[in-house]
Amino acid sequence: MKINNVVVIGSGTMGSGIAAHLCNANIPVTLLDLKTEISEKARDKIFKSRPPLLFERQNVNNIKIGNINDNFNVVKKADWIVEAVVEKIQIKHQIYERIFKDRKKDSIVSSNTSTIPLKILSEKLSSMDKKDFCITHFFNPVRYMGLLEIVKNKGNDIKKIDYLKNFCEKILGKGVIVCGDTPGFLGNRIGVYAMQVALTEAIKMKLSVEEADSIFGRPMGIPKTGVFALYDLIGIDLMRDVLKSFIKELPKKDVFQDVAQNIPIIDKLIESGYTGRKGKGGFYRINKQDNNKILEALNLETFSYSPAKKINLNIDKVDLKKLITRDDKYGEYAWSVLSKIINYSSSLVPAITKEYNDIDEALRLGFNWSKGPFEMLQEIGPENFFKKIDKFENNLFLKNLQESKKEKFYNGRQKYTNIETLGKIKNLALKTNINKSAEIFRFKNFNVIEFTTKANALDYNSMESLKMATDKPLIIINESMQFSAGVNLNYVMDFVKHKDFKSIEKFIKYFQETCKHLKYCDNPVVSAPSGLALGGGEEILLQSNFVVSHTNIVMGLVETIVGLVPAGGGCKEMLWRWSQTEEAIKDPDFAPLKVFEIIGYAKTASSPQEAIPLMFLRKKDKKIMNRNNLLPESKAILEKNKNFTAPEKCKFKLSGENVRKKMLKILDDLYKEKKILDHGLEVGKELAYVLSGGNTSIDQELNDEDLYNLELNSFMKLIEKNKTQERIKHTLATGKPLIN
Ligand code: NAD
Repeated sequence: MKINNVVVIGSGTMGSGIAAHLCNANIPVTLLDLKTEISEKARDKIFKSRPPLLFERQNVNNIKIGNINDNFNVVKKADWIVEAVVEKIQIKHQIYERIFKDRKKDSIVSSNTSTIPLKILSEKLSSMDKKDFCITHFFNPVRYMGLLEIVKNKGNDIKKIDYLKNFCEKILGKGVIVCGDTPGFLGNRIGVYAMQVALTEAIKMKLSVEEADSIFGRPMGIPKTGVFALYDLIGIDLMRDVLKSFIKELPKKDVFQDVAQNIPIIDKLIESGYTGRKGKGGFYRINKQDNNKILEALNLETFSYSPAKKINLNIDKVDLKKLITRDDKYGEYAWSVLSKIINYSSSLVPAITKEYNDIDEALRLGFNWSKGPFEMLQEIGPENFFKKIDKFENNLFLKNLQESKKEKFYNGRQKYTNIETLGKIKNLALKTNINKSAEIFRFKNFNVIEFTTKANALDYNSMESLKMATDKPLIIINESMQFSAGVNLNYVMDFVKHKDFKSIEKFIKYFQETCKHLKYCDNPVVSAPSGLALGGGEEILLQSNFVVSHTNIVMGLVETIVGLVPAGGGCKEMLWRWSQTEEAIKDPDFAPLKVFEIIGYAKTASSPQEAIPLMFLRKKDKKIMNRNNLLPESKAILEKNKNFTAPEKCKFKLSGENVRKKMLKILDDLYKEKKILDHGLEVGKELAYVLSGGNTSIDQELNDEDLYNLELNSFMKLIEKNKTQERIKHTLATGKPLIN
């Protein structure tokens, strides 16, 4: 079989997400709903979605639309029909009756259900049809969530399931975990249980929503939405429906039942329209007061809102051992929640899966946890765990582990795939070098470096590691969500606080030196980004010899937003790239003006397809759908470039004042139109000075150093300005830019 043509039925959140992602993979797809207007609206929503569901928005019309009455014959030609209609069994059964009457022989049919067992979905199908029917459970938003659970049963044609798995892994880039027909499959069974434990324990222990989220979040390697903010994001009403279904499907004795029961505060919120972010708010809400938006949190006891409190736990790294032994209510909460999650997950092995690693990976791919429950148990250490836990019952996994007295039981990541992933090879390194901000994994023929700070922000230690790691061909890659959100501004602001501008200058110089070294050293450097590559992160990419980019990235030089200019070679490298174009050969001012626009407006790209026209990426850089493939593709590049020689140094001919005048005219117009204010004008002028080549003329030749110096001087002038410092402080405190 081959999948060349897909029909998706139901164009709601999931159907449209699946169709959009098939479109990203260039697979012809038709999206049907009850009426064509509904799928048409869905297509508009895909077009406008933020973050975008499509790699290239202009491709939206490649998604064909229609309705199930007039256009059902498209099913006859489809190789794969995905049902994503409302979660109502009668409606799903009616659809299947029609699909199986019309579909072509050999096609595969799947449902996106999150709660209805395969057994019930397929109960009216013939045994022949059952062979070709399974569940493909995508997560929302489909483009961004890595997990796809394929649920099969004994009657399935295994070759077809394998083909589908392969297709979804290679072509759609998903982490595909094949699992059995058990309630909630793997991801939601444990993920939703974990949320319920975090929520009920917080209520029991009288923790505020902010306190609970600040523990059941980053300190555990869980996204900062924690539990209450995640509830708001998913929808409090949707969560209630999911729980009702768990109550119905799970055995009465399952301990999940205890935490799935109705909670009065949830009903109260839903009844008053507080269904989460899509409604008036939920556990958190935004209150507008005198043009200010204030984030408020719900008091679980008084049912009133007050400004959300920032809880400072002084935790900058995940350290579970330390967390669960804290001598305060936070330590108690952490242990209570974690021990229950570990206990529950392990009690379900082998009932829901023989491979416990699949549970961990489902949590990593479907809930963005950095470690699943079993790897958390490994981190805590079995001995510590058994010393601390009161009792566990009916848990063969834990019983065996305790009896084995094995301290190291965890046998590696990503068992669900044959791909040689970063997670798999880290343990095989011959040697590792660790500092506070990065880890180098040394192999025979190459090194791998992984940044390890929050959002992989870059500091002196990151640079030092990068330099050290280039003694062999190097791959810069990471497992956490972001490649790098840029230079660590907290680190810079610490120097600002002490008016120690000399140290900032020293750091930026070192950053420049490192980037220059990455580009020109004797060994090839491959960067393999996923997630954010902003500011300094993008500058590392720009100066890597090769880039293998995941398709889910956000790239850009966004320094002007905080009142700075890129100073790690970002201006220089963008100028260099744009000066190689045909237009630039004809017109020496073309490249500086183009880069002035890109950096001045802090333009970003949210896919490699968008990054290439801006030249954040080159056409030769690779676009990779499946994040797991970043490492093998990077290794293949090193293999192909054994005779690598460093690129030639850059040479620039810039017209100085001539082009600067054109830039200043643009700034002047923006200023008059009040699109930029005084500080914006100052930043724009500095950027213009750098990109025009400073005090130069078209007959002079400038080199890398000249441009680095210009970047550094302008950066230093700008960082000393109060308004820049104010912008940086605001961004650090709120995560958002200051608008004025
Ligand atoms: P939704 O309510 O957003 O969309 C459902 C769509 O189905 C609507 O556009 C509706 O008009 C259409 N529809 C209803 N009856 C139909 C029919 N007879 N023929 C064609 N279209 C019909 O729902 P959703 O959130 O997209 O969920 C769809 C499926 O995916 C459900 O089975 C749900 O359990 C599952 N799911 C949802 C999520 C999620 O986060 N929303 C995640 C994973 C799985």
